Amino acid sequence: MRHNKKQARLEQVRLDILQRNICPDLAAQATQLVMGDGNPNADVVFIGEAPGKREDELGIPFVGASGKLLDEMLGAIGLDRQAVYITNIVKYRPPKNRDPSPLEKKAFLPYLLEQLAIIQPKVVVTLGRHSMEYFLPDAKIGQVHGQAIRREIILPDGMHAEWLIVPLYHPAAALYNGSLRGTLLNDMAGVRALLG
Ligand code: URA
Repeated sequence: MRHNKKQARLEQVRLDILQRNICPDLAAQATQLVMGDGNPNADVVFIGEAPGKREDELGIPFVGASGKLLDEMLGAIGLDRQAVYITNIVKYRPPKNRDPSPLEKKAFLPYLLEQLAIIQPKVVVTLGRHSMEYFLPDAKIGQVHGQAIRREIILPDGMHAEWLIVPLYHPAAALYNGSLRGTLLNDMAGVRALLG
């Protein structure tokens, strides 16, 4: 699918979320919907948890402290935002940055899957527990981080897709626990190797 066509289909996903009034309580407290950033033709999609304060203000995922670390790590493996696609499972900022609830994650999941079905990446990288949970429900991040795991996923339209899932620690975890920085960087290098 051509770049512009993917862009148009991604825009339709955004409009669908607005028109169907997904998570109205979150929407009422957020500044705006935060969809995704980067290249719709990317071979790799990074999926975080939900927008924070800065993301809510700017309408772009991962632009606060976690985002700076993510950019730094992408740079270290020779990638930047224009080479990848970055999004979140929940697309409105939860008040006071609380964890997204199971219902909120469930409500946004079909739209995340639609984004993936449009982009058709080679590799799906989950950042942290919330996005890992859906793709690898029984996994423990301490045991599986950095591993490439093939998973068959049923899309909202009933079609089946097979993606290579790589669960990584969330960059915020590495901000709080410096010893995870090296682990995260190492796992990122593994993602780069998968992309060839
Ligand atoms: N943390 C996330 O999970 N997503 C963002 O967009 C920012 C911080």
